[in-house]
Amino acid sequence: MPVVSDPRVIAAMQAVPRHCFVPTNYLDQAYNDHPLPIGYGQTISQPSLVAMMTEMLDLQPGERVLEIGTGSGYQAAILREITDQVYTIEIIPELAGTARRLFEALGYGDIHTLRGDGYYGWWEYAPFDAIIVTAAPDHVPAPLVAQLSPNGGRMVIPVGPPGGYQSLWLIERHGEDVTMQRLFDVLFVPFTRE
Ligand code: SAH
Repeated sequence: MPVVSDPRVIAAMQAVPRHCFVPTNYLDQAYNDHPLPIGYGQTISQPSLVAMMTEMLDLQPGERVLEIGTGSGYQAAILREITDQVYTIEIIPELAGTARRLFEALGYGDIHTLRGDGYYGWWEYAPFDAIIVTAAPDHVPAPLVAQLSPNGGRMVIPVGPPGGYQSLWLIERHGEDVTMQRLFDVLFVPFTRE
């Protein structure tokens, strides 16, 4: 697995209070390096994986980033520490609502949130310099590739069968040229569809 060395990623990990994003009954485990349940069968990802995926995105200040799978909102807050152009989509209404309120409370109120099926991306704000998918589909959604910036857009996405390990991929787009690099194996909750 890659080492996290980008100072911006390290600073973001230090800045975001993870305990605010975990349910109160798991507070004592908020800073342990493992995923935790957030209700509705979903989880907040383990911090080291959040850091590595953010590092792989190579996000620069001012760049526009789209996250699919808001969940607790933790990953989106990490992204917001690096750039002020964060867009995040969550399919489960309750989680989308809770994250929205938490962003407001923690000073991340300018994160753009949407309740919907992230398979289709967010055309209104495309293209995105970076796209991060935090649930695992069994194939790369074509609309997301289409919404990736042709000027070196990057996407980090786990792809694989639900219920098993998936491969994490780094996809890069230059013009109509799309390259895919397999990074390492991960375990994510399934990408669901409406
Ligand atoms: N990034 C989150 C991880 C949440 S787990 C965090 O930092 O906490 C993955 C989330 O993806 C779940 O909340 C799940 O409901 C959501 N999800 C699954 N399929 C989706 C889809 N098609 N569109 C949007 N969100 C989806």
